[in-house]
Amino acid sequence: MPSYDPNNIFAKILRGELPCYKVYEDDKALAFLDIMPRAPGHTLVLPKAPARNILDVPADDLAHVATVAQTIAKAAMTAFAADGITVQQFNEGAGGQVVFHLHVHVIPRKAGQPMKPPAAAKEKPEVLAEQAKALMAALAAG
Ligand code: 5GP
Repeated sequence: MPSYDPNNIFAKILRGELPCYKVYEDDKALAFLDIMPRAPGHTLVLPKAPARNILDVPADDLAHVATVAQTIAKAAMTAFAADGITVQQFNEGAGGQVVFHLHVHVIPRKAGQPMKPPAAAKEKPEVLAEQAKALMAALAAG
């Protein structure tokens, strides 16, 4: 497996070199909205420590990311009036991974509405800003 590339796009977001619609942050994890959402509220949860994917991440960091993904999933049910949540996580190109810093997709779902294909379209900034606000409000409400 190739080694971790510190110039991947999520590493740049983690270093603050590129912007994101942040919804959650603690000392070990960051969560922000996917700019090409497969459904409204599509969120990505990342460990802050460098890890390419599930094959090299320390178990503690993976466990923390899973815990944060659960927190986001519960808040997203309220924020987006979802009927369910799809959680996805891809590893290496053959496994569907495109960005090589470990991330978990948390995708709110409405009954009967299929997900858009990956990277189908960039969402409008004002829509993402509004969705980030709604998700953060649901997170704050607990
Ligand atoms: P994966 O590597 O698991 O296949 O997916 C990478 C995800 O990152 C895709 O869902 C894609 O839409 C998202 N993505 C790609 N570039 C950016 C970006 O610059 N900002 C954000 N927030 N998401 C991105």
